[in-house]
Amino acid sequence: MTQTKTLIEVPDFLTVRELAGIMEVSPIDVIKELMSNGIMANINQQIDFDTASIVAEEMGFEVVAPQVEVDEVEDVDEQLAWRKVLAEEREADLEPRAPVVTMLGHVDHGKTSLLDVIRQSDVQSGEAGGITQHIGAYQVNREGELVTFLDTPGHEAFTAMRARGAQATDIAVLVVAADDGVMPQTREAVDHARAARVPIIVALNKIDLETSRPERVKQQLTEIDLIPDDWDGDTMVIPVSAKEILGIDDLLEAILLVSEDIQPRANPTASATGTVLEAKIEKGRGAMTTLLVQNGTLKMGDTLLVGQNYGRIKAMFDHKGKRVREAGPSMPLSVSGLGGIPEAGEQFRVVESEKAARRIIAEEQEDQRQAPIGRQKSISLEEFFSRLQEGEAKSLNLIVKADVQGSLEPIVNSLEEMENEEVSVEILRASTGNVSESDVMLASASDAIILGFNVDIDPIAKAAASSEQVDVRNYRIIYKLFEDVEKAMKGMLAPTYRDVVIGRAEVRQVFRIRGIGNIAGSYMRTGVARRNASAHIVRNGRLLNTGPVGSLKHLQENVREVKTGFEFGVSIEGWNDYEPGDIIEFFVSERVED
Ligand code: GDP
Repeated sequence: MTQTKTLIEVPDFLTVRELAGIMEVSPIDVIKELMSNGIMANINQQIDFDTASIVAEEMGFEVVAPQVEVDEVEDVDEQLAWRKVLAEEREADLEPRAPVVTMLGHVDHGKTSLLDVIRQSDVQSGEAGGITQHIGAYQVNREGELVTFLDTPGHEAFTAMRARGAQATDIAVLVVAADDGVMPQTREAVDHARAARVPIIVALNKIDLETSRPERVKQQLTEIDLIPDDWDGDTMVIPVSAKEILGIDDLLEAILLVSEDIQPRANPTASATGTVLEAKIEKGRGAMTTLLVQNGTLKMGDTLLVGQNYGRIKAMFDHKGKRVREAGPSMPLSVSGLGGIPEAGEQFRVVESEKAARRIIAEEQEDQRQAPIGRQKSISLEEFFSRLQEGEAKSLNLIVKADVQGSLEPIVNSLEEMENEEVSVEILRASTGNVSESDVMLASASDAIILGFNVDIDPIAKAAASSEQVDVRNYRIIYKLFEDVEKAMKGMLAPTYRDVVIGRAEVRQVFRIRGIGNIAGSYMRTGVARRNASAHIVRNGRLLNTGPVGSLKHLQENVREVKTGFEFGVSIEGWNDYEPGDIIEFFVSERVED
């Protein structure tokens, strides 16, 4: 252990959760530290640099201002030196972990069979008669190196998990039957793995069959840009047979080689976080939840929080059904004690107590209720540009569906040509046929927009698009499709928003706060003021400024809302010259449906 304090970089404003993330501590601890400094804040509340510094320093960190300010420091060498320390400090916490592998591929090509023989090949679990538990994942040990396999094959599960925010897989094994070759779902699986930026290894299965045609399949693979390494490409293609148990060790070796390349790592000392793989009621055991620990170490007695469900862990079992007391990164395990059945793909975290869990759930529900109106869960073409500018979107991700191959190609080519220095265009899938549920799930998981040309949308896909809030746009006129995309890339495809005034306050007194600026001590005359609203400042009927609310305080405490009749302090971004008598008009933007 190093004696030096860990340096952390803190921006001007950040939420409690973000600060906790930077320090890699539980947000609860940050909230407690804030409370002991007289500040009541919830996990999603914004705090300023000064507040964050006080808290972080009391928690044993050394705080530095963000890069922009640091760049003004004269001593460049010193700057570089501490930057290096910062990188090393964080680096030092990370340790290698087992890669997590998912099997993808066309139905009946042998995913389940391969998972079964790999599970049985594990020398460590060779105890005769040992009953393996199907808990949704298992680990095998190959000469001291562990590999974790997720036991629900197929891209539906893979992408459904991604759509809920889970990034559990490090490596995809694409199973292709050597007699059948590349089939529609093989192509789909490749789209899904690529969209998730997961490296692909091909398991060329069923080579025991006389009808197997490995060379022909390799040719087909090159057509979807998976060039076998023995053809000078960089995709490992491993001939295997689940039936005859051939090539299984080669496949494991290939997985470990790719793993060496991508070096999956995690911090085993952090508080545990990860993904729910499965949850069900089991006879005699009650609700059992299978988890994949992705960071930190989960321990007996920890309190888990998953969405709306929480509970103290009563028992933990590994994939062989053996009781364990703790589980580190990449380890799958099943636990009892969670008071509910979460969904596969939901993220779990460890919180201090059941009481803390209840409070966090309540706060998150409140935050959701107050989330800005007009903001979609998934991206829409209208919103693309603003998300790009906010740094939330890096590229325009598209799924293109057309009625015939003849129209698909020119559409794809033209879309790719629209790419410019600021915006890259990523076509995650281009295929013929109606918009399917698979398209919608891929879009949802990858923040993509679906562009259809002369196609229909399947009824199930329609329902999925509405629940996942995926933007599916159907065109009958080709130039209109290009026009919309072009406008979206320039930020000209503006959605129609309407400002809705939610409250009016009058400034009564102005307070000067060192390091922060002026705060308008105000009285809420009508309606409400909200932390996530914007405001107009009006003096003698004249509009002086419009900007988002910077801070909202009641009796020195940050609050989310102030109701009619209360006095409070407020600052509006971009304005500092408040005067008694000014009217502050709070408003939120509402999207107008077209
Ligand atoms: P999945 O749908 O991809 O999970 O495929 P399964 O594992 O269920 O396998 C589909 C069928 O192919 C089953 O009848 C298996 O017995 C058979 N199969 C799987 N692997 C092999 C293999 O290596 N050789 C032969 N001949 N058959 C296999």
